[in-house]
Amino acid sequence: MAQIYCVANQKGGVGKTTTTVNLAAALAAIGQRVLLIDLDPQGNATMGCGVDKRALPHSVYDVLLGNCTAQQAMQTSPAANFQVIGSNRDLAGAEIELVSMERRENRLRDAFEAVQDQFDFVLIDCPPSLGLLTLNGLCMAKGVIVPMLCEYYALEGLTDLVNSIKQVHANLNRDLKIIGILRVMFDARVTLQQQVSEELRQHFGDKVFDSIIPRNVRLAEAPSHGLPGVVYDPNAKGSKAFIEFAEELVVRNGGKLPNKTKKPKAAGAAPALVKPASN
Ligand code: ATP
Ligand code: MG
Repeated sequence: MAQIYCVANQKGGVGKTTTTVNLAAALAAIGQRVLLIDLDPQGNATMGCGVDKRALPHSVYDVLLGNCTAQQAMQTSPAANFQVIGSNRDLAGAEIELVSMERRENRLRDAFEAVQDQFDFVLIDCPPSLGLLTLNGLCMAKGVIVPMLCEYYALEGLTDLVNSIKQVHANLNRDLKIIGILRVMFDARVTLQQQVSEELRQHFGDKVFDSIIPRNVRLAEAPSHGLPGVVYDPNAKGSKAFIEFAEELVVRNGGKLPNKTKKPKAAGAAPALVKPASN
């Protein structure tokens, strides 16, 4: 059965799309069957997978509105070996159009039931809000991956997100849980980041992933080439960190890694980040 994860955080610019795209590419690189669903009208994940959001035959908007099936809206990313359902600004209207529809929170779940079994992982890139689009993602998902900057205000926002997830769990989707918090754009040279990282560990324990994504310029450059960072520069520190994160997820789910059985690092360790990052 597919692991269906929302990558969500109502804060903007915290690395949701970068995480979704690179995790999709990294999971595909280690042999997993992956579907990425772009649920953000900005269409950044779509473009980051090398798919032109202005030329989509069918988008996630069409799937939500019932204009086409999930299967019809799928296409292979030209950048890596995974499937994508793209989005564009059409989707901005869906938030309003869905309001009057039946089973409005479950439109995504209903539409994807038929195709889930084709995949090991389904990753949903959510917009920076807790509106009806994100709610559709949360109703379909089994879990939430929360990318987080290790900054003071990030901790505040986390409470809102955790409460929303609890409400969805109580009222709409009993399967939903937080899979983990992913520390992103991490710079070990910044003392405050180390402190917040430590606090996260103390509060959330093993709900904080062992893998840490460093701040890395290659990850930021990659979308302008229509490529996930993992493909654009596989040797960059950020790309290696996403491969490690993909391995951690597969191992957590009881899966096997190709050619090696690598265990996630010990709690709290961040050895790759101690030295100043150059690329
Ligand atoms: P939004 O809320 O608008 O959807 P988001 O949460 O999806 O934003 P991203 O678009 O992934 O965030 O990232 C925000 C910016 O930070 C982008 O310019 C991206 O290239 C950059 N960025 C993300 N992760 C990293 C990283 N690890 N190192 C360097 N830059 C990064
Ligand atoms: Mg985004």
